[in-house]
Amino acid sequence: MKINVGESSAEEVLDYYLHQIEEEAGSAHKEGRLVCWSAALAPAEFCEAMDVSVVYPEIHAAVFASGKGNTGLLEAAARKGYGRGLCSCARNSIGFMEMLKQRTAFGSAPEALQESGAARVSLPDFVFVCNNICDAVLKWYEALARELAIPCIILDVPYNHTMPVSRHNKEYLAAQFLDVVKKLERICKKPFDYEKFYQAQVQTQRTVYQWKRVAALAFRKPSPLNGFDLFKYMEIVVMCRPKMAGEIVLRKFADELEADAAGGRFAYGEAGEEKYRVTWEGNAVWPFFNLTGRTFKETGSLLAGAGVPGMWNITYIPGDLASMAEAYSSIYLNCGAPYRYEELCRIVESSQSEGIVFHIDHSCKIASFLHREGAEYVQDRNGVPFTYFDGDQADPEVFTGAQFENRLRELTEKMEIRKS
Ligand code: SF4
Repeated sequence: MKINVGESSAEEVLDYYLHQIEEEAGSAHKEGRLVCWSAALAPAEFCEAMDVSVVYPEIHAAVFASGKGNTGLLEAAARKGYGRGLCSCARNSIGFMEMLKQRTAFGSAPEALQESGAARVSLPDFVFVCNNICDAVLKWYEALARELAIPCIILDVPYNHTMPVSRHNKEYLAAQFLDVVKKLERICKKPFDYEKFYQAQVQTQRTVYQWKRVAALAFRKPSPLNGFDLFKYMEIVVMCRPKMAGEIVLRKFADELEADAAGGRFAYGEAGEEKYRVTWEGNAVWPFFNLTGRTFKETGSLLAGAGVPGMWNITYIPGDLASMAEAYSSIYLNCGAPYRYEELCRIVESSQSEGIVFHIDHSCKIASFLHREGAEYVQDRNGVPFTYFDGDQADPEVFTGAQFENRLRELTEKMEIRKS
């Protein structure tokens, strides 16, 4: 089934392409294409050049968790000895792999796999990991590769204690890019397609341009964009960065939002319904995504700024590997505290936020451990109040709705006092 982009809504176009990508991943092996499971911030341009079908376990974790279909997968990982202290994305993916292995062995999908809603996905022929978000991701993909006895391509990205990214860090990473090329040639048994790689780089920049356009619309006051939708559309920028589909969906969405703003239609309807503007720092709570969004709306708080979606603002010069290395290294989770705090200040200021909500993510230590200092840094600079809540991006056991609501109401009181 084809879609008429001009006559469809951005959401319909989004659903269409996401469905298409999933179908492609399901039929890749039948078509003689290899399947790679990749970290969400590994450079997808390489696999695109080799016509490899890429599956993103972090996206699976978000999608399965938001439908609350991942409990069986987390339990499967626990039975294999992966404890609750580990990242829930990793546990989700290891449980998923285990279920797919059982499907292959017994010929039918176990119940936990059916509940996850992604029974058609194939096991990978190799995995591709890049530790520019954390080192847990490295061990997670190594575990997948070891269990499945398949190759693991690793991009080792040094942590940036100072910014901008040093020349030796860029050179170290750019040299590894050449090694990725050699490994892909061995795995795919064909020469690397440099022209397709260049086109994938160009397309990535076109997609990222539209992504930044969308994100900037949340900065308008009043805003036509509810920042929770930014988290929702993150799926396409992860899965389709080097594909035209990414650009098409995001351009459509940005155009729609522009038209809404021009027509006086805002995220919460009337302009006055947006009472407070809030920055969200940390991952989304996918198992309670709707509840958190609803609670924001009930308190008149608009999610106007967020750090995580900005990780996909990967901007570089196509054809220039050092520039590409710098972009993939500059992910804010891969940078020292002063840069992270400055980045947070920039988001708060650009989005005209009056408060910040920090998600203390049980399984994502790297995202959470600088929250307190970051909060105080911004408050010293701008006087913006903040609050915290406990949660997890993919484990439903950690979050409580009552705590979230109380903390958000407490923040709205602080914002109200500051306004008066
Ligand atoms: S620990 Fe955090 S950054 Fe690392 S894979 Fe898990 S969610 Fe992502």
